[in-house]
Parts: sequence; structure tokens; C-alpha cells
Amino acid sequence: MAVLEIKKYPEKILKQKAAFINNIDAHIQHLIDDMIETMYSARGVGLAANQVGIPKRLCVIDVSLKEDKKPLIALINPLIIEKEGTVEAEEGCLSIPGYMTNIKRAERVYARGLNREGKPVEIEGTGLLARALQHEIDHLDGLLIIDRMSPIKREFFKRRYKKFVKEMKSGR
Ligand SMILES: [Zn+2]
Repeated sequence: MAVLEIKKYPEKILKQKAAFINNIDAHIQHLIDDMIETMYSARGVGLAANQVGIPKRLCVIDVSLKEDKKPLIALINPLIIEKEGTVEAEEGCLSIPGYMTNIKRAERVYARGLNREGKPVEIEGTGLLARALQHEIDHLDGLLIIDRMSPIKREFFKRRYKKFVKEMKSGR
């Protein structure tokens, strides 16, 4: 297993819609393992394949660090099939390090996809799992948390973040 490089905003691949996976072969299995390793090493609760430069519909999620007794999930071609309620909470993204913002999401979601063996699975998510499922599936559609903010907030973010990155690079 290997830790992959996580693509950071504003890299273009993060805006790209990921392609459906037709063949769950050894290559995909390997990618899943590397993505799990990368997610844990970055201490994230989820990671989408385009975040590591592979524009394919695949994500891994593990919210057990924050919420007990939730299994590690690898989902291929995931789709949200049902949403209920709305809840706002603070959210971050491994591709926008150091930034947190409040995002409105559905409170409960039902997602469908294939597991790493290619078997259809359905996942019901509430709490952080619901949020992570929506966040990762957004990634696969080329959407970041900033695309879920109001246009005014987004403009403000873009100006501030450029400055923030510059400051980080110059070591201030
Ligand atoms: Zn993210």
C-alpha cells in the first residue's frame, strides 16, 4: 500500500466529473487500498478518487475516529438515492487544508453503490456518515465545499485563500 499525493484546490481535476467504473479489477482493488492508506495518513474521514488524481467514481469513508462502531466503507459508483432533513455543521476538506466552513446537508441519506467485490450495497447514513457520503459523492461530481457556499462567501473565500496559501508557502 502507498500513500498517494492529495490534490489541492484549485487543481483542475477536482472540478472534473469522475467516470463510472465498469471493471472492478486488481487495479481498482489496489487503488482502494492506497486510498484507504492515504485517508488514514491524512487523518481524514473520507477520500474520493479524483482527490488523488484518478477521475473515477470511487470513494472511501471511515468515520469511526469520530463516531463509534462505523465500518470502513469503500464505495464504487456511489449514488445518493434518498435524502431527508437538513442540518448545518462545520466541514473541512483534505483538498482545502486549513479551511473549515458551515455547510448545509441532508440529515439522513441512503446511498447505493458497489463494494470492493463488486456486490451492490445500500448504506443508510446519519450524522457524520451522512455528511461524509454527501461530501465524497460531491467530489465525484466535481463539487467542493466552496461550491456549496453562497456566491458572496465563495468570492470572499477565494480572495482569502490565495493569501493564506501564499503565507503558508513563505512560512509566515
Ligand atoms: Zn473533500
